[in-house]
Amino acid sequence: MDPRFSLEQNVSLKDRCTYRTGGSARYFARPLNTEELGAAVAYAAQTAIPWFVLGKGSNVLISDAGYNGLVISMEKFNTIAVDAPLGAVRAQAGAELQDLVARCCESGLKGLELLNGIPGSVGGGVYMNAGSFDASISDCLDFAVSLTATGVCVTRQRADIEFAYRSSTFQHNKEIVLEAGFQLTHGHAAELSAIARSIEQRRRDRQPCELPSCGSVFKRPPPGGYAGALIEQAGLKGRRIGGMRVSEKHANFIVNDGTGSSADVHALIDLVQKTVFDCCGVLLEPEVIFLGDFNG
Ligand SMILES: Cc1cc2nc3c(=O)[nH]c(=O)nc-3n(C[C@H](O)[C@H](O)[C@H](O)COP(=O)(O)OP(=O)(O)OC[C@H]3O[C@@H](n4cnc5c(N)ncnc54)[C@H](O)[C@@H]3O)c2cc1C
Repeated sequence: MDPRFSLEQNVSLKDRCTYRTGGSARYFARPLNTEELGAAVAYAAQTAIPWFVLGKGSNVLISDAGYNGLVISMEKFNTIAVDAPLGAVRAQAGAELQDLVARCCESGLKGLELLNGIPGSVGGGVYMNAGSFDASISDCLDFAVSLTATGVCVTRQRADIEFAYRSSTFQHNKEIVLEAGFQLTHGHAAELSAIARSIEQRRRDRQPCELPSCGSVFKRPPPGGYAGALIEQAGLKGRRIGGMRVSEKHANFIVNDGTGSSADVHALIDLVQKTVFDCCGVLLEPEVIFLGDFNG
């Protein structure tokens, strides 16, 4: 065991993801700082254990068999620093995106308010290039600090990071996002908070926010299509497998009635892909990230 960080074993992941499903992590670490994080990654490399970084678990489907590797939670990296006069904001990767949006709005800083209600972390948001209502987290990102697989901290300016729809450089380079810096413009705190509240209301009106899910299961199919519309067209609204069903309110959401498993979600994803392809000739690409083995 490496004394530079503490390692837990057989930690349930069910309450660490928004589907509320899945098994346990064989190893689990919640490093307090970059040194401990680096030590955890180095330990995994030395012992040939696969590792996975977990944010708020709002875009992962964790196998019911769990993960036979090391899950690294970023929950302790959670500070947000706002310099209102300069419009500069720094947020650590484990900070909640919703807290970041709230802090910016109440400080009269404009640029992130349309992302209100995305239930992920800042690091998960940068990794996924999360976005909503035609805005993306990359729109006002200034820089990101990340840790390479060999333990080196790298600061990249926005221009040196590739972002596209639900995609970022970090999906390809296996680096861990430590911190993100944003450059925002000045606005009126009350107006920005009102916009953020209205976005939240629009989410409640359109999405099944009251049930466990991971948000949109599939990416938008090009060009300019909507996965939800295709799923509805294929007659799949309300289709159920076990305790999971395609939401009647928003067809691109799969929701858990409280008894569902990850295997149910996986089977439903498969069914939706096949049915939509047969009906509309479009192969939907999952947005959700799969963790663990789904072949068993
Ligand atoms: C009700 C609901 C509504 C949603 N609405 C939206 C929406 O409007 N728009 C949208 O884009 N998404 C939406 N999502 C999906 C999800 O919230 C986003 O994808 C979010 O950015 C994921 O962040 P997370 O911290 O939960 O990441 P996780 O789910 O924990 O992880 C997702 C991926 O990011 C990686 N990751 C996490 N942290 C880091 C890090 N620090 N460094 C490197 N990699 C990291 C993980 O390894 C994993 O591959 C919604 C989800 C739910 C449940």
